[in-house]
Amino acid sequence: MTVTAPDATRSPLDDAHDQLRAAATALDIEPGLVDLLGQARREISVGVPLRRDDGSVEVFRGYRVQHNFSRGPAKGGVRFAPSVDLDEVRALAMWMTWKCALVDLPYGGAKGGVAIDPRQYSIEEIERVTRRYTSEILPVIGPDRDIPAPDIGTDERTMAWMMDTFSVSSGYTVQSVVTGKPIALGGSLGRATSTSRGVALMASAALERLGIAPAAATAAVQGFGKVGSYAAGFLADAGVHVVAVSDQYGAVYREGGLDVAALSAYAAEHGTVVGYPDADPIPAEELLLLRVTVLVPAAVEGVIHVDNVDQVQARIIVEGANGPLSSIADSRLADRDVLVVPDILANAGGVIVSYFEWVQAKQTYRWSLDTVESRLEERMLGAWNAVTAEQRSAGGTLRDAAMRIAVSRVLDAHRNRGLYP
Ligand code: GLU
Repeated sequence: MTVTAPDATRSPLDDAHDQLRAAATALDIEPGLVDLLGQARREISVGVPLRRDDGSVEVFRGYRVQHNFSRGPAKGGVRFAPSVDLDEVRALAMWMTWKCALVDLPYGGAKGGVAIDPRQYSIEEIERVTRRYTSEILPVIGPDRDIPAPDIGTDERTMAWMMDTFSVSSGYTVQSVVTGKPIALGGSLGRATSTSRGVALMASAALERLGIAPAAATAAVQGFGKVGSYAAGFLADAGVHVVAVSDQYGAVYREGGLDVAALSAYAAEHGTVVGYPDADPIPAEELLLLRVTVLVPAAVEGVIHVDNVDQVQARIIVEGANGPLSSIADSRLADRDVLVVPDILANAGGVIVSYFEWVQAKQTYRWSLDTVESRLEERMLGAWNAVTAEQRSAGGTLRDAAMRIAVSRVLDAHRNRGLYP
């Protein structure tokens, strides 16, 4: 992969473009079509005014970027975080297009976000921000246009408010406009744990490929939120020794393996893993550098970069987060033969079960948990097999192979539809 500038001056969008360029070169795609795939079809930027509980007014910036519609309606999460900006949302939207294509969902890619730190506001204030943001992007979302879902800083309650706001304006209940909803509002069984289940499945597949038994493996998980906490639990269930986990406040380590169930109960009570009595505290940034078999970065973009990549000692990296490796880090790890399971494969379990939730809403027929989980596993393992087969036949890393499959599927749909007018 050709990388043009040092990490400090680069954004996730640069990394996303590097990945597209690498796939375009391998697939020999003509420059005009690379431009078409590199740019979002539609972007909206909105002011989101909030009346605070004390009566004062604050305004936040919100975005919705729809990267591609060639294979179907756009799909992707909504992020509430102070770091949200247009380029980040563009990168995340592009990754959704490739992710949906790779696991063969009939969707394009989108992402949205509001630049707000939700921890600084009351629940009532977050509800008002959510409803106002939803009403600002109302013209571009809908069950057959663009279907939002949770991401960092949002959850099933956020999705309930989005669904209600959309439904009130439509005059009837529209369950299929968002996914990741509470079960009581048509959420799917198994959605809450789906991303993590997929991450653990991919970690197991990667261990098997390297001939390492789960019981002989150790793991470290960065991020103990919606993805990392359940992923740590599923890895422990598979027999892997989860020796370290971190959250935004710090990290804990136990050489013989953490009791993940006890740690989760502690974190639920205290709001952090810090202070968990049955482990040693370590600096959060050291977690990424531990000598473990499997490292699962499950927090934000760009955490492994030019300045720390050479100290990373893991044999396998399973990208629970979107874009946790910068392009430079990615190519250095490839040179060292570290097996990286790329985000568009590793964390696709979430959007796969989002798709199941959308199908159930459209069918008005609920599937059992067994059905959801077995179909999730089938899709994840099918995608793993397709990516490893592509890697065997045409070379490169797992990310290169996954990108070639995803980009050629999107292009194939585009070519079949033709360019209007
Ligand atoms: N935010 C999740 C992701 O990045 C889920 C998206 C969805 O379910 O639409 O994949």
